[in-house]
Amino acid sequence: MPPKPITLVGGGLAGLTLGIGLRRHEIPVTIFEAGQYPRHRVCGEFVSGRGQETLARLGLREMFERTGAVSASNAAFFSQTKSMPPRPLPSPAICLSRFNLDHALAREFRRLGGELVENHRWQKEFGEGIVRTTGRRLQTEEHGSRWFGLKVHARNVTSTADLEMHVSPRGYVGLCRVNGGVVNVCGLFRRRTGEEDASLHWHKLLCGQPGSPLDQRLANATYDEDSFCAVAGLSMEPQRAETRGECCLGDAITMIPPVTGNGMSMAFESAELAVEPLAAWSRGESSWPDAQQQIAHRCDTAFARRLAWAKWLQRAILAPALQNSLITLAAHSEWFWRTAFERTR
Ligand SMILES: Cc1cc2nc3c(=O)[nH]c(=O)nc-3n(C[C@H](O)[C@H](O)[C@H](O)COP(=O)(O)OP(=O)(O)OC[C@H]3O[C@@H](n4cnc5c(N)ncnc54)[C@H](O)[C@@H]3O)c2cc1C
Repeated sequence: MPPKPITLVGGGLAGLTLGIGLRRHEIPVTIFEAGQYPRHRVCGEFVSGRGQETLARLGLREMFERTGAVSASNAAFFSQTKSMPPRPLPSPAICLSRFNLDHALAREFRRLGGELVENHRWQKEFGEGIVRTTGRRLQTEEHGSRWFGLKVHARNVTSTADLEMHVSPRGYVGLCRVNGGVVNVCGLFRRRTGEEDASLHWHKLLCGQPGSPLDQRLANATYDEDSFCAVAGLSMEPQRAETRGECCLGDAITMIPPVTGNGMSMAFESAELAVEPLAAWSRGESSWPDAQQQIAHRCDTAFARRLAWAKWLQRAILAPALQNSLITLAAHSEWFWRTAFERTR
C-alpha cells in the first residue's frame, strides 16, 4: 500500500521542519500557508537550546550556514538604569532573520518533493491526516493585559554583546546581530486593557526611554522600514498538547515566553518528535488517535519543565521592583546565569 498523504496547515518553522522530516521518509506532504515567502516575522531571530540538535539531525545546520547565520556567544541584560558587561552564553546560539530562514526551509521542503501551497488560508475542519502548525492561538486578553510584539531591522546599532536584552516596566527589547551586518530589534510589550494602542508608536517603544542604554544603542540607527512588523493577541500561559483536541505542534500547542529565545527551538523539536508517529500512521502501522496521543505525550514530556521555568523567569523579569536585582544577579552569579539559561531550554 502506498503511504497515506499528510496535510500540514501553516508553513512556519514547525510546519516546514515537519514537512522536511516527513519527506525524508518519502511520505507525501502538502503544506498550506496563508502567506508567502520570503516575509519578515516578529521574532527575536535567536535560536538557542536543543532545537539546534534537531536541526543537525535533520541535516539543516548547513543550510543555516549557507544562508548566512551568525553565531551568538555572549549576552547582556540592561534596565533603564542598570547595565551588566557581556557574559558568555553556556552554549552558543545561532541567529538568522526569519526572512531568510523560512524561505530557505520552504525551498528545502520543495526540493525534497513536498507540495507547498502559498497564499492559502485553511478554513476547513482538522481531522485524520491533518496537522495544525498554524502558530500562536489568538488570545485577546490575559489577566487584564494585552501582549503584543514588534520588530524591525536596523544598522548602525552600537550594541556591546551578540544579544542584548533591555527590560523596562512595559516589556523588553532584544538587540540581536543577525545575517548581513543587521541588528534585529524585537520587543514584547503589554498594555492594560482600554489603554491606547501603543504599537502605533513603534519607534518610541522599541527605542526605550530617552537616556536609557537602549536609547543610546539606537541613537544613530537607520531602520529598514520594510522589515517592520507587529503581532498582537499573544498568550503567555503554558498549555499542554494533551488537552488540545487536534494534532498540533509548535506555537499551536503553546507559546513559551520569548525572553527565553526558545520558541523556534520548540517548533523544530516538536516537529522532530512528530515525524516517526506520523510516518507510522502514514504507512498504516498505527491509528490516527494513537499517533496524535503519542505526539502530544512526547511534546508535553519534552516541554513541561521548560515552560514552567520560563513562566517564572518572564514574570520576574517584568516585575519593575526585581529588574535591577536580577541584572546584578546575572552579572555576578554564574550559577544563576547558567541555571536560568539551561532550565528554559
Ligand atoms: C516578540 C517575539 C519574539 C520572539 N523571539 C524569539 C527568539 O528570539 N527565539 C525563539 O526561538 N523564538 C522567538 N519567538 C517565538 C517564535 O517566533 C515562535 O515560537 C515560532 O515562530 C513558532 O513557530 P511555528 O511554526 O509554531 O509558528 P509560526 O512561525 O508563527 O508559523 C505559523 C504559520 O502558519 C500560518 N497560518 C496560520 N493560520 C493559517 C491557516 N489557517 N492556513 C494556512 N496557514 C496558516 C502563518 O501564516 C504562519 O506562517 C518570539 C516570539 C515573539 C512574539
